[in-house]
Amino acid sequence: MMFFWFRRDLRLEDNRGLIRALESGSPVQPVFIFDPVILDRLLPTDARVSFIYEHVLSLKKQLAEWGVDLWVFYGTPSTVFSSLLEKHPEVKGLVANRDYEPYARERDQVIHALFSAKGMDFIGVKDQVVFDRNEVTKDDGTYYTVFTPYSKKWKSALAANPEIPVRGAQASDAWNVTKANTPIPSLESMGFVPSFLEWPSKSVTLEILQGYEDRRNRPDWDATSRLGVHLRFGTIGIRTLLEQAQNRSDVFVNELIWRDFYHMILYHNSESPNKAIKSAYDFIEWEKNEDHFARWCQGTTGYPLVDAGMRELNATGFMHNRVRMVVASFLTKHLLLDWRLGERYFAQKLLDFDLAANVGGWQWASGSGCDAAPYFRIFNPAAQQEKFDPQFKYIRKWVPEWGTAAYPKPVVEHTWARQRALSRYKTGLASGL
Ligand code: FAD
Repeated sequence: MMFFWFRRDLRLEDNRGLIRALESGSPVQPVFIFDPVILDRLLPTDARVSFIYEHVLSLKKQLAEWGVDLWVFYGTPSTVFSSLLEKHPEVKGLVANRDYEPYARERDQVIHALFSAKGMDFIGVKDQVVFDRNEVTKDDGTYYTVFTPYSKKWKSALAANPEIPVRGAQASDAWNVTKANTPIPSLESMGFVPSFLEWPSKSVTLEILQGYEDRRNRPDWDATSRLGVHLRFGTIGIRTLLEQAQNRSDVFVNELIWRDFYHMILYHNSESPNKAIKSAYDFIEWEKNEDHFARWCQGTTGYPLVDAGMRELNATGFMHNRVRMVVASFLTKHLLLDWRLGERYFAQKLLDFDLAANVGGWQWASGSGCDAAPYFRIFNPAAQQEKFDPQFKYIRKWVPEWGTAAYPKPVVEHTWARQRALSRYKTGLASGL
C-alpha cells in the first residue's frame, strides 16, 4: 500500500502527485490530516476551515463512489503517520505534492525522516505551481529577484516544456479499495463553526479572460477571476487554469507567472515572512501608533479608497488587487507602520491568503521586496480613486457615510505624510547600507 497525502491540492483532476501515486504499482490509500499546529492559530469563525472541510467531505464522497475510503485525521502529521506506520506494516511509502512554505517544509522533513527510518520513501511532487524551485533560473543558475526577466525565462521554459494538465484520477484497482467508511472529525470537535459564505465559482469565464487586460484594475467592476481561494487550496489545478488562459489573455497568464515567482522567492527566502528581502529596509524606523493601525484595520482612515478596501476585506475576506496595493502603500508609507503588521492582518482575513503571494505583495508595497522600483513610489489614494473608481461606485458601496459629517477626517495629511515617509525611508536605508 502507498499513502497519498492531500494537503493544498484538494481535487482528483489534474493532480500530479496523485497520478504519480496511482502509477506506483501499490494500491493507493488517500489521507487528509487536520493539523492543530495550523488550526490553533485561527479564530473559531475562520471561513477557510469550512472551505477546506467542505472540499474534504466532497473528496470523501467522490472517492466512496469508487469504493475508496479517504482517511481523515485530526492530529499532528508526525503523530498520525507514526501510528499509521505501526498499524500498517505493509505500507511502501508516501507521495504528496510539494509545499514551499517554511512550516510545511519543516513538517515534511520530519515526515521524511520518519519514513526513511523505516526504509521507505516520501516522494514530493511539483503540482501547485507551473515551475518551482530552480526550474527557472538565470543562465548562471542563480535565482531571479526581479520579475520581468524571470517572466521572459518562464515563458521560454514553458515553450520548451509545455506543462499540461495531467489526467483525472478514475475508479481503478490502483486504489486501496476497502468499501469501508471511516468517520471524519466534525468541525465543531476541532473548535470551528461552519461558515455560510458563498464561495466563488471554480472556473473563469471567457468574458473575464477577454476583458481582463482592460478591466482588471477596476474595483467597481466584477472583472477578475476570484480564483485565489481555489488556487490556494488546490480545488483547481494550475495547469488546467493555464490552459484555459493561454491564447486568451497574456495579461492573465502574467499574473499566474507572478504567483510562480513569489513561490520561488519564498522557497529561496524562507525568512522573508519576517525579514526584509532587501536587508537595508530593516533599518527603517517604523511608527508605533496603535490608534492609526486600528483605524487602518477598521477602514476609518478618512481616505475613502483605503477605507472601502479594508471594509470589503473585513466583510467578505476579499479585496481587489488594485486596492490591496493602495492600502498596503498607505500603511507602510502614509502611516509608516511596519509592513509585517499589514501582512499579518491580511493573513487573518483574506480567504485567498497565501504566504508567498502575501509576503511578496507586502514587501513589494513597502519597497523592501523583489522590485526594481525605488521606495519613493508612494500611491496617492485620491489619484488612484480618480483613475480606478471614477464614479465613486466602489467607495459608495463600502463607505456609505462617505461625503457626510459622519465620515472621519483624514488620519494624516497626504503631502506631509509623503514627505515624512520619504525622509524616514532615506535615513533608514542610509544607516542600513
Ligand atoms: P485575478 O486577477 O483573477 O488573478 C488570477 C490569479 O492569479 C489569482 O487568483 C492569483 O492566484 C494570481 N495572481 C494575481 N495577481 C497576483 C499577484 N500580484 N501576485 C501573485 N499572484 C497573483 N494573492 C494571493 O493569492 N494571496 C495573497 O495572500 C495575496 N496577498 C496580497 C497582498 C498584497 C499587499 C498585494 C498587493 C497583493 C496580494 N495578492 C495575493 C495578489 C493579488 O492581489 C490577488 O492574487 C488577487 O487580487 C486575487 O484576486 P483574483 O483571484 O480575482 O485574481
